[in-house]
Amino acid sequence: MNTITVTKSTLPPYEEFIEKIKPLWDSRWLTNMGSYHMELEERLREYLRVPYLSLMVNGHMALELALQAMNLPENSEVITTPFTFISTTHAIVRNRLKPVFCDIKLTDYTMDETKIEALITEKTKAILPVHVYGNLCNIEKIQTIAGQYGLKVLYDACHAFGVSQNGIGAGNFGDASVFSFHATKVYHTIEGGAVAFSDPAMYESLYNLKNFGIRGEESVVAVGANAKMNEFCAIMGLCNLPEVETHIALRKAKAEWYRTQLLNEELLRLPVYDNPQITYNYGYFPVRFLKKGLRDQVYDALRKQDIYARKYFYPLTSDAVCFKKRYQEVPLPNAHEAADNILVLPLYPELAEKDQERIVKVIRQELKK
Ligand SMILES: *Cc1c(COP(=O)(O)O)cnc(C)c1O
Repeated sequence: MNTITVTKSTLPPYEEFIEKIKPLWDSRWLTNMGSYHMELEERLREYLRVPYLSLMVNGHMALELALQAMNLPENSEVITTPFTFISTTHAIVRNRLKPVFCDIKLTDYTMDETKIEALITEKTKAILPVHVYGNLCNIEKIQTIAGQYGLKVLYDACHAFGVSQNGIGAGNFGDASVFSFHATKVYHTIEGGAVAFSDPAMYESLYNLKNFGIRGEESVVAVGANAKMNEFCAIMGLCNLPEVETHIALRKAKAEWYRTQLLNEELLRLPVYDNPQITYNYGYFPVRFLKKGLRDQVYDALRKQDIYARKYFYPLTSDAVCFKKRYQEVPLPNAHEAADNILVLPLYPELAEKDQERIVKVIRQELKK
């Protein structure tokens, strides 16, 4: 039987991609803000309906440089969530800032906004929440707190491509939002990412930072990095963008199929898609098991059948070997509950119904044990 992975990258038709990259053999302009880079930046700005957007080599560098562009004093505290991909926490630490972990809600697994204020000290300078699984954080409440205490807000929107609230795209909240276009995400450029923001001055800062801080041939104005997207990736992005609505519709059908199949299982908490103000992207199908040990039991049973569901996100980033005991030990009961009991089921546009049936069958068998 075929192996089923948690996701499978979408690709445009081979001939279409080959045709689109042909001009590069004449122009020989392969990177450094070429014409495809500039075109994709504009197409994504339109698609995400954001005022400004800076294209990056990947989501992680987008996070690092967005934080750097905020110019926070060294050792400032950044309130963040431990229930995320390790990249979020790395971006804080690599900027010589200190992560302060806030617990999450078990309803949608985003940062618990009611627990933020208790964590604020005079060293707090920013909040870095994550729209985990594409679930939007409580944007209004977070903005109110940030306003009250004069904090910057940077959203890790890597899971939220195409998500909107009341027609407003996920990239419009806080001071900036970061997207990832990694091959495993809902929309991809092989490797890629972007920062969306509303302050026009940030465009130049990020442009400089992603190109070594070079402003002119003889002028280096910032300690930058190299985070430029190359032209091959930009062309992949241009090919994938017109298909993303179709891909999301296919994901939706498959997510709803899982829901109808698993709805009556008492030991499971399924994702809900019933808020009429939200447009979802169906990027992930996280299932939380309500009995201790059951998640790992199902994970193992699926693996025996060559089905690779994933424990996103276990362990918490605060428990990573490189961070454990290095930062404050605030209790994070909900985050631990989520990390210990959630399994993300395979979900991608091409996922076959017979494969979904195989997955559900294994889960049901384990629930009966
Ligand atoms: C994918 C991801 C990143 C990093 O993006 P890359 O493009 O892989 O560098 C950061 N945060 C979250 C939540 C992600 O899922």
